Amino acid sequence: MMQLTMYIDGKWKNPSKDNKRDIINPANGEVIAEAAEGTAEDAKEAISQAKRAFQDGEWPEMAPAERAEYLYRIAAKLDENHDELTRLETLDNGKTHTEASFDVTEAADCFRYYAGLIRAPEGQAVDAPESTHTMVVHEPVGVCGLIVPWNFPLLMSVWKMAPALAAGNTVILKPSEITPVTAVKLFEIFDEAGLPDGVANLLLGHGAVVGNELATSHDVDKISFTGGTETGRAIMKSAAGNLKKISLELGGKSPNIVFQDADLDTAVDHALFGIYFGAGQVCSSGSRILVEESIHDVFVERFAERAKKITVGPGSDPASEMGPLVSEDHMNKVLSYIAKGKEEGANLVCGGNRVQTGALKDGYFVEPTAFTDTTETMRIVQEEIFGPVAVFQTFKDEQDAIRVANNTDYGLAGSVFTQDSAKALRVIKKVRAGITWVNTYHTNFNDFPWGGYKQSGIGRGLGKYGLEEFQEVKQININLQPEPTGWFSE
Ligand code: NAD
Repeated sequence: MMQLTMYIDGKWKNPSKDNKRDIINPANGEVIAEAAEGTAEDAKEAISQAKRAFQDGEWPEMAPAERAEYLYRIAAKLDENHDELTRLETLDNGKTHTEASFDVTEAADCFRYYAGLIRAPEGQAVDAPESTHTMVVHEPVGVCGLIVPWNFPLLMSVWKMAPALAAGNTVILKPSEITPVTAVKLFEIFDEAGLPDGVANLLLGHGAVVGNELATSHDVDKISFTGGTETGRAIMKSAAGNLKKISLELGGKSPNIVFQDADLDTAVDHALFGIYFGAGQVCSSGSRILVEESIHDVFVERFAERAKKITVGPGSDPASEMGPLVSEDHMNKVLSYIAKGKEEGANLVCGGNRVQTGALKDGYFVEPTAFTDTTETMRIVQEEIFGPVAVFQTFKDEQDAIRVANNTDYGLAGSVFTQDSAKALRVIKKVRAGITWVNTYHTNFNDFPWGGYKQSGIGRGLGKYGLEEFQEVKQININLQPEPTGWFSE
């Protein structure tokens, strides 16, 4: 069985108390690893080492081209370990082999992207009035706490680690306590790549303990968090003590809007991908499918027909198209939302049950599920279920589509399907969300900003914006003709 330990100041470290947590394979309920359960003391130790490494200056002072070399080495090692990382991600999170393999490829690309970007620094150098020459430069923020969820354990870690390290910060990564396996593997790679001691530290353990210590500590300068909206709210409060910088990437209830003139086969296909990719455990899932009234029935019929054909099974089986939910607790939460939908009077058109046939009997599998006949106030329409549960809504015309799309507290993602390109642009410009698509769903690149409007978050990951989240901006004014000002009389 794998033994997972923390990594602090360049050394593998057991927790200060001998606590362990079982890590479960969600496809069969078996224990695959024992993970160290860190304490607040361990978090304090990691923070103090990261602070020392930042103040010592080796990493933040290093030329960007030199730091970039480390990132390229890490990317190459991610490629070398591609198959093993894919296998471990599937084992730990449950996602299909294809999904996990994509995550590993994207993780390596993300390190390469930020290695390149840090060598093209943005800044200004201008002659200002009064014989002053002014420079605007970017500097690292300092000690960064990076807290990530369980749905993309490796990729979410890398989306934060790559820009934070490129910018010259020292960091402490806190993966989800239920999916720490690939984060440990990532730190083996950092160790092999020879990152200086204390630059990258790994804390394992419960969010309310080690995560909270990162959010509260006055020695942490920045928290970058991805996870649930309620946790984000708690972190924002904890971070207020020293007014640390925060980036929050939170939940969603994203609208996928289908107009009657859309290519139906394309729209149905993308709607299935939008909600059932990752078994719906994706922050940007198209969990609300808004269909123009005139095509609602035919759309739902085709959607349900195809949803019923999706092969649910363990991620390790190449035939599986949708894996299990990440844990028994999470499965129960999703099933309780399905029960709530029925109670609220929505109409179940497919799925709705746990799958426990044959080899799946001990796994946390739920059928691809969809509800029609919903109202805008139902809990299944307003709240993030984070599982394979689509809710259908209808709209009358363009204005109504925009109104229904924006009628939630969230604003993460959204999509429009139509063959009228002017209408597509009109509507998508009105959708209050940070990640949007036209005639596609879930397309994403490391090059462009990721984040939400409204209660879906603060700040942006990825792209050049993702680097700026880990940088301070400084103006340096240089007097080219030093002489007394004469402001006060002598
Ligand atoms: P979560 O909020 O329960 O946990 C996320 C992380 O925060 C975990 O590492 C957890 O240990 C830690 N944590 C929990 N309580 C904490 C506290 N009080 N202080 C500090 N850290 C704490 O989320 P989850 O269940 O792991 O993930 C699912 C959620 O993540 C969904 O709501 C989903 O929408 C969101 N998500 C958002 C994005 C995005 O980019 N916007 C991406 C992936 C997931």
